[in-house]
Amino acid sequence: MSTARAFGALLIFTATALFAADAPRWWKGNLHTHTFWSDGDDYPDMVADWYKSRGYHFLAFSDHNTLQVSNKWTSVSTNRTSQEALRKYLARFGEKQVERRDDKGKMQVRLKRFDEMSKQFNEPNKFLLIQSQEITDRWKTAPIHINAHNLREAIKPRGGSNVVEVMQNNVNAVFEQRKKTGQPMIPHLNHPNFGWAVTAEELAQVRGERFFEVYNGHASVNNAGDTNRVGMERLWDIVLTKRLAELNHEVLYGLATDDGHNYHTNAFKSNNPGRGWVFVRTAKLDAASLVTALEAGEFYSSTGVTLLDVRQDKKRIEIEIEAEAGVEYTTQFIGTRAGYDPTSEPVRNSAGLALRTTRRYSETVGSVLAETKGATPRYELKGDEIYVRARITSTKLQENPYAKGELAKAWTQPVVNGVK
Ligand SMILES: [Zn+2]
Ligand SMILES: [Zn+2]
Repeated sequence: MSTARAFGALLIFTATALFAADAPRWWKGNLHTHTFWSDGDDYPDMVADWYKSRGYHFLAFSDHNTLQVSNKWTSVSTNRTSQEALRKYLARFGEKQVERRDDKGKMQVRLKRFDEMSKQFNEPNKFLLIQSQEITDRWKTAPIHINAHNLREAIKPRGGSNVVEVMQNNVNAVFEQRKKTGQPMIPHLNHPNFGWAVTAEELAQVRGERFFEVYNGHASVNNAGDTNRVGMERLWDIVLTKRLAELNHEVLYGLATDDGHNYHTNAFKSNNPGRGWVFVRTAKLDAASLVTALEAGEFYSSTGVTLLDVRQDKKRIEIEIEAEAGVEYTTQFIGTRAGYDPTSEPVRNSAGLALRTTRRYSETVGSVLAETKGATPRYELKGDEIYVRARITSTKLQENPYAKGELAKAWTQPVVNGVK
């Protein structure tokens, strides 16, 4: 080969390599995580290691009302979990990493700070830790928890005189810090049905809240609702319909997260990691790129179904599922069409009293517009849809679910058509 030809070939090769490095790809991550920094039962570096060693690309630490910035020591108690955590910590990382001291006869271990863990675990385009916080607030007895991602400073819960105000005040706090620092940050509403705290009508009103948990792996967050209260799928459709067709608010995206607290024993009642995650599509693995992609809806949520591609616009939705042998996939395209029935009724208890819960709406709100089987579901928009989203349900049992018989699923983000 002549020098000129070799040089030409090299140029083509380099251009291809550059293009490949810059091409958007899917990054797997979890956006809801607890450790010993709050009420999780493991050391934060063990938790980072849990996710990194299982092929996750990013992990947001979201301990209750704290960032991992101070010098914090935790006491090793005599209970089984505490002893097991220490034994595993020593076995994994050795004496040097496990900093211990004696506090009046009690052993204490220092928790690694976010900066230390970032140094230890972050690798370019391989793994990234994100500093988040679960802003842990309440209205009366209703727990109102909002994860805030990529923070610089901890946010003190702001409270409020009703559920909407508590959410709005804390969402505003995130955007105030974003504006002040210039650092991209986003809030996401956690587990609306935990303590039956947040109704669809309340969430629909919050400005700037673009994300909520359609799936949370904690065992007591009531993702599926109950007889009187809607599950997360129904809540999502009511919120989308109200926001897009009635209130002129932003779209709402659905996240799947772990909310892991228990890292030592897997069980239905245990709040284990590895249950729900997102795949975010972006060229680079850094917090700013991830936030930008999340805000653009460039992600899907999963509890065990992997997608190769999602292409969608106002004309069509095309999904490529990474099909596993022996597993079948059913995709439902769900949406609300113009001319839907917007009326609703309160849910009443047996004494006839209206409950503080999401109202009942007609089936024209969030109806199944089409259902299809196979690995390449397609939907052509008719033109009168206010939004359309897809839910893929597999015949595969979810690995270590919070309840028996849960099937692995995936959720894509809604296409907003702009009609009312
Ligand atoms: Zn929570
Ligand atoms: Zn949590």
